[in-house]
Amino acid sequence: MGEHTGGHGLARPLGDRAVVVGGSIAGTLAARVLSELYREVLVVDRDGVLGVDGPRRGAPHSVHAHGLHARGYLILSELFPNLLDEAVALGLPVRDFGRMRWYFDARPIRTADTGLKSIAGNRPVLENHLRSRVAALPNVEYRERTEVLGLLTTPGRERVTGVSLRARDGEGDEPGTRVDADLVVDATGRGSRLPVWLGELGYGRPPEERMKIGLAYTTRTFRRRPGTFDGPQAINPVASPAHPRGAFFGQAMTGDCRLSLTGILGDDPPADPESFLEFTRSLPVPDIYEAVRDADPTSDPVSFKFPSSVWRHYERLTRFPERLLVMGDAVCCFNPVYGQGMTVAAMEAMALRAHLRRRGELDSLGLQGEFARIITRPWRLSTRGDLDFPAVPGARTISVRLHNAYTGRLQYAATKDPAVTTALMRVMGLIDPPRVLWRPGLVAKVLWLSRDKPASSRRTGDAAGTSVHAPGTSDARRGAVS
Ligand SMILES: Cc1cc2nc3c(=O)[nH]c(=O)nc-3n(C[C@H](O)[C@H](O)[C@H](O)COP(=O)(O)OP(=O)(O)OC[C@H]3O[C@@H](n4cnc5c(N)ncnc54)[C@H](O)[C@@H]3O)c2cc1C
Repeated sequence: MGEHTGGHGLARPLGDRAVVVGGSIAGTLAARVLSELYREVLVVDRDGVLGVDGPRRGAPHSVHAHGLHARGYLILSELFPNLLDEAVALGLPVRDFGRMRWYFDARPIRTADTGLKSIAGNRPVLENHLRSRVAALPNVEYRERTEVLGLLTTPGRERVTGVSLRARDGEGDEPGTRVDADLVVDATGRGSRLPVWLGELGYGRPPEERMKIGLAYTTRTFRRRPGTFDGPQAINPVASPAHPRGAFFGQAMTGDCRLSLTGILGDDPPADPESFLEFTRSLPVPDIYEAVRDADPTSDPVSFKFPSSVWRHYERLTRFPERLLVMGDAVCCFNPVYGQGMTVAAMEAMALRAHLRRRGELDSLGLQGEFARIITRPWRLSTRGDLDFPAVPGARTISVRLHNAYTGRLQYAATKDPAVTTALMRVMGLIDPPRVLWRPGLVAKVLWLSRDKPASSRRTGDAAGTSVHAPGTSDARRGAVS
């Protein structure tokens, strides 16, 4: 062990080399914090990633609407000083979360100056920017177009000692090339092979929790027209049981805007341009259709399916190899409409840093337990919200029903009072815990403001409430302006 060469803090590194598998958001943030603590950090990705600020095979979801929540923004600003200026220079919109036009149950909530910033726009551009800053650190190296095939361990398999890998295009590392490591982090996303690798090493597979939602996104970009985004950064009619079709519409880059349509339980937004427009017309908020119907498209519609949210409970395993860690979507991928994944990855990166600084070594299962505590709140928020849709399978406990009934009132109260909007945004932005929404003063205000809340205009149709309605004629559209 010698002096730390990353230039970030510790005089003595915790080990020679940390290997991070996956160079997307979670891997990049892990590499950023590990560069402070290990002499060298190697990030391996099977895609070409350096300088890539557009779609790529290993992260096909990244072309769909992505917003970084306030908590994520604060963490990233700490890890990457000057992020705000740099994001603005890149053309990424950074705005107050509460100034966007949010629609819940087709009703616009009051805008508010919450003081919470959010970065939206273009996820590949943001990701590339963060990665280029991490790649510029003196002790971080990226090995691209290289696939990790499995873990190396001590003969007794109690400790991970590295990874085996191969170059994807046949140039570079032969299959089975070994790279030694003092720490291996799996940040390979939803498709992580870690459960299989653990099984091959004689460990158990993590128990999985799933919430089936049958979500689909279809996204298209358009040239921005003058006036489209003069004020608010985005128009977001969020899907609700009465209006299960949703959308995220906002500025993508300086000259472009992006429209991501969402549908659940088989009501997939179509990818042929005409039907895409018809689906847009069927949204409960007419403004989006008006903005894009004559706009010049700058891409073809692209679809992505998200069958279920998945949480792999590694923390519940009784045995886990030492010097191994798993984070990001590889542990838990949330229903994306809640916009939580990148922020949770950022929170995990901070927990990793604090854990290693505090202990001076990794307690793998202990840290997976810390990650589970981070995941619990956003997981509850999103899965409870999903259970509000009648056809989503799952148990509606009393607390779920109470939570959803109160959330409906809260969202309605936010159509009248910006202070309620702020409280809601602080919880959605993962700044405050949901319990603050139950403070007696706020509960009383919400009940008072929602005393005239009409029953949701739930459409008849299939049990999911996902029946396709005739564009432009639905009660959903009427609801938007009521
Ligand atoms: C449609 C959609 C919209 C979303 N919107 C939002 C949003 O608004 N806000 C938000 O915070 N989150 C959002 N998310 C979630 C967010 O995209 C993820 O949480 C985020 O990408 C973090 O993922 P990750 O880095 O863990 O994994 P990924 O982004 O999936 O990256 C995994 C990486 O691992 C690499 N890899 C995989 N296997 C190997 C291997 N064997 N060897 C080497 N490399 C490998 C891949 O090439 C890839 O680069 C959304 C997700 C979806 C699907």
